[in-house]
Amino acid sequence: MQNLRSIKFKNEFIDNFDGDQSGDLRPRQTPGMLYSKAIPTPVKKPALLAWSDELAGELGIKNPVDQNDIDILGGNQVTDTMYPYAACYAGHQFGSWAGQLGDGRAITLGEMQTPCGKLWELQLKGAGPTAYSRRADGRAVLRSSVREYLMSEAMFHLGVPTTRALSLVTTGDQVMRDMFYDGHPGYEPGAIVMRASPSFLRFGNFEILAARQEVSNLKKLVDWTIENFYPHIKNQNNENRIILWFKEVVERTADLIVEWLRVGFVHGVMNTDNMSILGLTIDYGPFSFLDDYDINFTPNTTDLPGRRYAFGKQASIGYWNLGCLASALAPLFPDTQKLTEALEAYKDIYVSKYQDMLGNKLGLDEVKPTDIDLMIELEKMLNSIKPDMTIFYQLLIDLTLELKDEQYIIDHFKDSFYKELDKNQEKMLYNFIKNYLSRIQTNTCTREISLQRMRKNNPRFILRNFLLHKSIEELEKGENSLFLKLQEAMKDPYSKNFDEFFVRRPEWANEKAGCSMLSCSS
Ligand code: AMP
Ligand code: MG
Repeated sequence: MQNLRSIKFKNEFIDNFDGDQSGDLRPRQTPGMLYSKAIPTPVKKPALLAWSDELAGELGIKNPVDQNDIDILGGNQVTDTMYPYAACYAGHQFGSWAGQLGDGRAITLGEMQTPCGKLWELQLKGAGPTAYSRRADGRAVLRSSVREYLMSEAMFHLGVPTTRALSLVTTGDQVMRDMFYDGHPGYEPGAIVMRASPSFLRFGNFEILAARQEVSNLKKLVDWTIENFYPHIKNQNNENRIILWFKEVVERTADLIVEWLRVGFVHGVMNTDNMSILGLTIDYGPFSFLDDYDINFTPNTTDLPGRRYAFGKQASIGYWNLGCLASALAPLFPDTQKLTEALEAYKDIYVSKYQDMLGNKLGLDEVKPTDIDLMIELEKMLNSIKPDMTIFYQLLIDLTLELKDEQYIIDHFKDSFYKELDKNQEKMLYNFIKNYLSRIQTNTCTREISLQRMRKNNPRFILRNFLLHKSIEELEKGENSLFLKLQEAMKDPYSKNFDEFFVRRPEWANEKAGCSMLSCSS
């Protein structure tokens, strides 16, 4: 175990790529550069609010002992082996090319070697301006930092690929935000999250190099990514290697989105600068879990006009975003046929993973072609009834195998309903359950195995927005009991140990900002 202060950071990204070493924090374009040096801007009084023991253990970092350690987490102290920088990337935002973006408020401190020999990047989010801050301040507010800290750790415990969060500090500074984008800005407490990931590279890191026609930088970044994060394919010959790598990115992206759909997660801002090249959930902003099952639900107020990033659109947006990555990689190929084929394969890969995932949620022994009708019927029924997704699947686990009458079935699922069902919906539910139970009877595995599969794939505790909202409100008043409780519950999402949170979204939270919808202001 190492102390934060004594970690010997490596700086392989810095050592391998051209960057702007001036340390100038004024916003600007940085052609030819993959990063710009950015020393964190000190804050008034960093105070530790949360620390992830599990992640610290995995990284081999000792718990902070004194203010010196906390100063590192707040960006007030930079050790000798750190080389703080902001990465340069671009992106497509809401379907349009946005040009250069970059880490506007994230600063990587360096890469550290974990006890198992892997390198992980440590990054501060909210540590002050960088060359890529554009007109913004490089800071983050407490509410968005609490959300990122809790949610990235919650996703980890759910088994969903994600970047991690090591610590959350308040800064003692006030940050000005127009939370509702309605011309009424106000001061809010500032905070900083220390994030950790093998890499924070995004599709956008490749897109910027293609857009700037820096083909040799592009080639170098692709090779470096393969060498460091996809080492099993590094010995393939050149063109083949890049195709194999792209196929893996396609596969991981499909896996990621299927995992989101399994637990009912809506990212909310699937711009290509928020798509991890490692297939991780990255950049937690106006995200939400589904309460009521609604494929058109988007938690992001900025996304409301087109609902581009709604729950049910995430799979096709994954494909669209991979298309942007493929376009960026095209200059590395004499002809793009193989690249196009690899991209097109996403659709079948995704569908097959999605069906397997649903099969697991339903406790099927395997997914047979005849099960597809049942799955379609399930989705139609859920989308009409709009029950609470999490509660519905938990009640499905508890259902007896013997088919009872319609009223019994409706009563059984009652706790998942947000409104009373009409006659047609009652019929839909009953018919689905009838077909489901007769399918379950044909399982070749034991009932216990089928149940285990359902328990493993259907979370019972999810970090609902209304819970996050309540804990943030309390924290802003200096009260941390719910915040602490949520940190315990999120470590155990498949058990019944935290059933005090096994409830539908309460009515007071229906229209309340932060509970259902959020703006991007953070
Ligand atoms: P997002 O969609 O939130 O991931 O952010 C899009 C871009 O805006 C990224 O380049 C961010 O670094 C940048 N950005 C967001 N908020 C801030 C801020 N407060 N200060 C500087 N840059 C920001
Ligand atoms: Mg982002």
